[in-house]
Amino acid sequence: MRELIIDLDAIAYNLEVMRKRAGGAKVCGVVKANAYGHGMVEVARKLEDAGVDYLGVADIAEALELRRAGIDAPILAWLHDPHEMFVEALNEGIELGLANEDHLNRVAAAAEITGRLARVHLKIDTGLNRNGATAGEWEGLLRLARALVAEGFIQVVGIFSHLSSTGEAEDLAQIERFDSAVEIARESGLQFELRHLTASDGSMSYPQAQYEMVRVGVALYGLSPFSDNKASAYGLRPAMTATAHVTQVKRVPAGEGVSYGYMHRTAAETTLALIPVGYAEGLPRDASGKASVSIHGKTYPISSRIAMDQFVVDVGNDDVNAGDLVTIFGDPASGVPSADDLAVAAGTINYEIVTRMGGRFNRTYLGQSDLD
Ligand SMILES: *Cc1c(COP(=O)(O)O)cnc(C)c1O
Repeated sequence: MRELIIDLDAIAYNLEVMRKRAGGAKVCGVVKANAYGHGMVEVARKLEDAGVDYLGVADIAEALELRRAGIDAPILAWLHDPHEMFVEALNEGIELGLANEDHLNRVAAAAEITGRLARVHLKIDTGLNRNGATAGEWEGLLRLARALVAEGFIQVVGIFSHLSSTGEAEDLAQIERFDSAVEIARESGLQFELRHLTASDGSMSYPQAQYEMVRVGVALYGLSPFSDNKASAYGLRPAMTATAHVTQVKRVPAGEGVSYGYMHRTAAETTLALIPVGYAEGLPRDASGKASVSIHGKTYPISSRIAMDQFVVDVGNDDVNAGDLVTIFGDPASGVPSADDLAVAAGTINYEIVTRMGGRFNRTYLGQSDLD
């Protein structure tokens, strides 16, 4: 009845596009938040088969789920609370992004318990002001890291940070702060292989800041990280198509109110088509009256209120019947609305549209890797 079609071949293709742009830097494929709604395990398997260098997630719980699914690629997890499952993470060979002395000490304790060397990436805050050590905390964090390296508990694999994507001047200032934090670390005698700073947008905008690795999320899913650029301009292919089948049609006279609040009233005798997707599936209620869907290659506005389970489209006198396929969004190259179009209609960004898709949608995967 409702289907999210996930084109895994498009994701593998987008990985290649981003790998070419990365000019020799490693690519960390970011699969947090259920791979931005695309299905974390299936996407991770495909990326692993396509030779991704790292997989990136926010939480250790996500990393553990990947390991349970048999994913062997290096995994980096970077968002932790103080009581995080560091022991489990080390047992499963998960690398940890760490930003403060407390977490570093807890990870060292977990290394002692498990007898496993913790592979860590130290995070410097270069101006985003989310996690990451401040410039003032940096030398203390490095000192502790050196001591824990000497004790044989940790290995520092990398140093990383994250841009605010505010504008070029702000980003360049962050790149400069990153370089000086790296310099301080080097001068302190700390050894590490990987510097990584940029996500999709920074890796596209600042080739000089790709260092040894880039962390790419949204571009892998074929979406642009920029609101003013279409993904196709970068040769990226959208991987998610959201579809449903019309559950019912009815003829109604002019002047009928449609759906909650009668946002839409019929102008003439017309056909109403009922589509079984609502905000429970992640279709934003805010898109009511602004988004469009495609039926038989023709675009129709969702002019009435999107409800929890369903919405109605006024198709006039067109030949639309129960069971007909409706595309809510997909690859605009095929003439259907894009996730970007829906994002604009809902006053949000493409990231939020795809990440929130779920509810009662079935996911169908194209190009799925063989299970071994
Ligand atoms: C989510 C995330 C990314 C990926 O960002 P995109 O804009 O989707 O490429 C990279 N790094 C960190 C730290 C993140 O949280």
